Amino acid sequence: MTDRHYQRSCVWLRRDLRILDNPALYHACDASEAVVALYVVPAEQWQQYHKSPIQADLIRRTLVHLRSELAQLNVPLVVLQAGSFAEQRALVQQCIGQWRIDALFASREYEVDEVARDNALQHDIEGNLDLHWFDDRCIIKPNSVLNGSAQPYKVFTPFSKAWLKELHSVGWQCLGRPQQMPKLITDIDDSTLPLCSLEADSWPYAGADSSAYAADGQEVIAQLRQFSAERAARYRADRDFPAIDGTSVLSPYLAIGSLSARQCLARLSHDHGSPWELAEGAKTWLTELIWREFYQHVMVAWPHVCKDKAFKPDYEAIPWTNDGQLFDSWCRGETGFPLVDAAMRQLNQTGWMHNRLRMIVASFLCKDLLIDWRWGERYFMSKLVDGDFAANNGGWQWAASTGTDAAPYFRIFNPETQSKRFDDKGLFIQQYVEQLRGLEAKLLHQAGAGGNYLPAVVDHKERRQMCLELYQQSLKKE
Ligand code: FAD
Repeated sequence: MTDRHYQRSCVWLRRDLRILDNPALYHACDASEAVVALYVVPAEQWQQYHKSPIQADLIRRTLVHLRSELAQLNVPLVVLQAGSFAEQRALVQQCIGQWRIDALFASREYEVDEVARDNALQHDIEGNLDLHWFDDRCIIKPNSVLNGSAQPYKVFTPFSKAWLKELHSVGWQCLGRPQQMPKLITDIDDSTLPLCSLEADSWPYAGADSSAYAADGQEVIAQLRQFSAERAARYRADRDFPAIDGTSVLSPYLAIGSLSARQCLARLSHDHGSPWELAEGAKTWLTELIWREFYQHVMVAWPHVCKDKAFKPDYEAIPWTNDGQLFDSWCRGETGFPLVDAAMRQLNQTGWMHNRLRMIVASFLCKDLLIDWRWGERYFMSKLVDGDFAANNGGWQWAASTGTDAAPYFRIFNPETQSKRFDDKGLFIQQYVEQLRGLEAKLLHQAGAGGNYLPAVVDHKERRQMCLELYQQSLKKE
């Protein structure tokens, strides 16, 4: 990667909280006499981004494990607390000076504010030391999967084909542990720095209990291996049924980078064969990883999505009704639609929600309750343990038809039909809505459960019609 050899390098960890297949760490260890790792919590910025307390706690616990793994590599981990991104940047500069660092290694983040922070840092320190940036978040880096006119793709299916073709030509490499063991630095002066304790009580961001999710990198890898060996082959058949343990639930780790997408691909390929010749189950799972890449690439190509804007500008004109009471009933899982409510309770209780249900509740919020998708997007970020801006924004804009989806806006999910198709016995509903336990399945799918549950907050048929008119009228005006 670099022919230069450094006395002291700093690895600025962000969303790459792992030892294995971490390009910034790997190359820093390879090129340096000594290495120090740094993590800076921008608590104010997290709040502004609605980061969920449960994800913040998972990051904290992951850092605890990472600190001891890094210690075995002779790399001390210093964790600091900042308020904003500007403070984060200033602290990194302070550390560089104070610790006499001659090279900085970091993985890129692609959201606009993060890009602005990194550009400003680069501007300030370039010339004083070497900066090495890595594209770690995607298997194929943004801006490199382009159509025949050298433009980024707006639609998933052709993107996916081009992505596989690109993978064929550029290949991919999964790095292991750093090969070189640096010398231990013993004179790190942190006396004037705002050190951040990794104790739950002192963590500078509201915490929630994330102990249901793995913080130990080895456990994360074990979960990947188990999914690939035991469930990937059945993924296509099982993935849409929330009562079945059919998906990987690896999203929390991909979101904070305690797992890389390359590691997922490498394991899938190890167990099921080359990415271009996978059997149906494994192939469908790879397609989901490509969806993840797609939304990252979209965000880089159309950064206005990071600024609360619809991907398709015409759709800004929709006059959402934004009823606060309806929104609260949706957030609490008290809409009277059993599957929608069970899904929202799963989110509120566990920090995770099944993908089929994310689509259903998002469609319900936008197209039945006629509430701006941005309200739902923010609520999800504030609760999800796997909150990831690109995937979440992409998913919400897909559901609201303001995004990259090729289907027209008049695709509106019917919560009752979805419930019958994907939770026919009502097992999932009954897991999360206690008062519906023991009720016969056919009643469970109905709004209000045939009078045995909360009355429905809206009438689906009526709202469907209202939604179609709302979209039609606002798009006609354009
Ligand atoms: P699996 O089915 O095992 O898929 C493997 C991995 O592929 C996932 O872990 C995830 O990283 C990626 N992936 C799968 N589906 C998608 C998708 N549609 N878009 C992007 N990546 C995908 N995913 C997030 O990681 N963070 C979010 O904040 C997020 N918000 C969403 C909001 C909405 C409204 C919708 C419809 C989807 C959202 N998704 C989000 C995508 C998807 O629902 C989750 O990635 C998936 O449910 C995670 O479960 P899993 O790990 O078992 O996925």
